[in-house]
Amino acid sequence: MQATVCASQRATGPAAVASSSSGTGAARRAALPRRQACRLQQRLAASAAPTSSSAKEVLERAADRSEGKAEPGFDARAFRRSLNSTGRYTRKPSNDPDSLQLMEEHGVGYSTTGLVAQMRETGYAWRQGDVSVKLAEAYGFCWGVERAVQMAYEARKAYPGQRLHITNEIIHNPGVNQRLKEMDVQFIDLGPDGEKDFSGVKSGEVVILPAFGASVQELRLLNERQVQIVDTTCPWVSKVWNAVDNQTRKGHTSIIHGKWAHEETIATASFAGTYLIVKDLKEAEYVCDYILNGGDREVFLAKFKNAMSEGFDPDRDLQRIGMANQTTMLKGETEAIGKLLEKTQLKKYGPAELAQRFMVMDTICDATQERQDAVYKLTGAQDTPEGIDMMLVVGGFNSSNTSHLQEIGEMKGIPSFWVDSAARIDVAANKVTHKLAHGELVETENWLPEGPITIGVTSGASTPDKAVEDVLDRVFRIKDPSFAGIAPRKTSVKKESHDEEE
Ligand code: SF4
Repeated sequence: MQATVCASQRATGPAAVASSSSGTGAARRAALPRRQACRLQQRLAASAAPTSSSAKEVLERAADRSEGKAEPGFDARAFRRSLNSTGRYTRKPSNDPDSLQLMEEHGVGYSTTGLVAQMRETGYAWRQGDVSVKLAEAYGFCWGVERAVQMAYEARKAYPGQRLHITNEIIHNPGVNQRLKEMDVQFIDLGPDGEKDFSGVKSGEVVILPAFGASVQELRLLNERQVQIVDTTCPWVSKVWNAVDNQTRKGHTSIIHGKWAHEETIATASFAGTYLIVKDLKEAEYVCDYILNGGDREVFLAKFKNAMSEGFDPDRDLQRIGMANQTTMLKGETEAIGKLLEKTQLKKYGPAELAQRFMVMDTICDATQERQDAVYKLTGAQDTPEGIDMMLVVGGFNSSNTSHLQEIGEMKGIPSFWVDSAARIDVAANKVTHKLAHGELVETENWLPEGPITIGVTSGASTPDKAVEDVLDRVFRIKDPSFAGIAPRKTSVKKESHDEEE
């Protein structure tokens, strides 16, 4: 068997590295995806899927681009915008009533009749026997996630006989993803090399991009395959892409506050030229110390080996920097990192040069912040009779924003239980399996005590109301074995919504 070798693998000497990471704007951008383009090339070659403009052409362009020679003017933002004129690209919901109705039936949207909907009418509070529930005033499905699920449902209806794929989980919620599978939406799996395997995606089929977006390399591949793209990327995420694009155009390195393995951050990094991903303030402090005082370059490179662009050089690439973020990180930490980076550049280069050395744009999502603020409010009266006995946090275990909601309760010393579905609660045994903010999965027996209890409840931005209702149903059943459920009732108080930003 003949191995496929990328052009970028052949060009690996010091000169190639230097040429890939020097310069600004388009040249640096063109040099970015060497490793990704190379993997893509190998996967495409292996799959030999029939395509319109042929996989070979895509491979050649990907390889050429990875060496920064064939497409020096490649402009990721312009490319993304150009998709609008292909006739094979949808990026807004159609507000189809049948799809909205089906979402309601499946419990994957906002509740309009269940307990959560009824709580919106009763001041975000509920009393069921010994259990008092206080729902955070901002909780659950955000606008961008609801929009993404709606677009996926609309796509299923709009292309009834066609194969539908999705490049990742639509959102971080197991129940919603399961519903899509049941509607015959194919999830693009990882191949044996640990990379996504697009070999099953054929020309003319439909591919949904999730709310967190997709990398520019995936977009290019899908465009070349001539598939119908349904892009549910949240406009708040696109705003971050525009920020890193601006930084790249000005020759700045994007410092991204995020988790390097998170889909959204992977996509954001793909739109940046040179980038470095810091996961928290501690890592940012390390970077700032390096900027001011220098340090061991090799130790730096080892520390960020998974979190930086190809050929990153801390001695060269930290001279001009810009701030960007994964939209679901803690806002306070993102702001603190931004201020620290700005202060560092000010100290290093002086006020006259600051504007040329540091760029920032507010790109944190309001929905994330509102949910965090609501938990701070809910947990802000612990020394008064208004205090709560415990927090219940509902959301996918791989949901970043949900982990931050859990973190708040833990930081305040309030017993806080994060579950991803009602199935984590064993009613008969009064036992819960829950996750801690730092990732540990634990079991708590004799979970709910005898007598009255006040529970603060919130849910992550990827969590449909139905998931919260199911969890509370089990809580009520533990406290009262004769509990028969909450009767549905049509309600009128709607959930908050954001205007589209783009
Ligand atoms: S959390 Fe914010 S950025 Fe993420 S999908 Fe929701 S609205 Fe968009």
